[in-house]
Amino acid sequence: MARLSTDRMLALPSSDAREGYVRWSPTRSLWISGMTVCAVVLAPLYVTPGAVVLWLCTSAVTLCLGHSIGLHRLLIHRSLDAPRWFERVLAYLGTLVGMAGPLGMVRLHDTRDWAQRQSECHDLHAHRASLLRDAWWQMHCRLDLAHPPQFNLEPRLRDDKVLRFLERTWMAQQLPWAILFLWVGGLPWLIWGIPVRVAVGVTGHWLVGHITHRRGPQGWSIDGVAVQGHDLSAAALITFGEAWHGNHHAWPDSARLGVEPGQHDPGWWVLLALRRAGLVWALKEPGMLTPRPGLRRAR
Ligand SMILES: [Zn+2]
Ligand SMILES: [Zn+2]
Repeated sequence: MARLSTDRMLALPSSDAREGYVRWSPTRSLWISGMTVCAVVLAPLYVTPGAVVLWLCTSAVTLCLGHSIGLHRLLIHRSLDAPRWFERVLAYLGTLVGMAGPLGMVRLHDTRDWAQRQSECHDLHAHRASLLRDAWWQMHCRLDLAHPPQFNLEPRLRDDKVLRFLERTWMAQQLPWAILFLWVGGLPWLIWGIPVRVAVGVTGHWLVGHITHRRGPQGWSIDGVAVQGHDLSAAALITFGEAWHGNHHAWPDSARLGVEPGQHDPGWWVLLALRRAGLVWALKEPGMLTPRPGLRRAR
């Protein structure tokens, strides 16, 4: 039986998703601020067609194969299977997005997911704050719950030496690529290939999360939970399917996010190609899954 993402959170009698303290998180705050300032100030000065193509290609590979498929659909939700070496390659690509280490991403995701499943949760986990405040909270701060649940990472992830190495060095993983880009394409490649890519990726990830937890159409709703997921069809292609977030809340363990006819899900298309190549298998879809408690059709 495959593990479900929610199995990692053990609620204690005292666990409470509401009470907590938002604290400034210096490392990630300085990291994303530095990347964003570099991007805003230097990108216009060093723009070349080659640099923009590099930014688009490296963003697509790291966000689609790395973040969406490797970290989200595989490591976090186990919605498919892959050989261990390929799982590590995908986790490496996901680490290159520059958001967090792979194990930190699992913890962040599952803590939020747990909180959103409770009947009430803190404003940070619900993206309930105004746009600017939510941006500050999500990209520069962390929420320390007063009474958190216990987080138990399964040994497959916890004891994986490659994942642990990536976790310790996730920021430094940009360095080899920074040197390569500088060597091949000079400052334009360096700036568009690293800070512009990281700043746009991390900011875009937050913005899509902000919108899709607040408003928009949903194919399903879930009774008794603090937060619903919504779909943002305009962002379906550029998020590689992740913007079908209403579907994701309804079927969190589905490898397919665009589940209705006409819902474009490039991450799913890539998974189908990888399955043909024999690199992934056992892709889960809603029809194979038990509906989560409280799930209802919303349209
Ligand atoms: Zn969500
Ligand atoms: Zn998820």
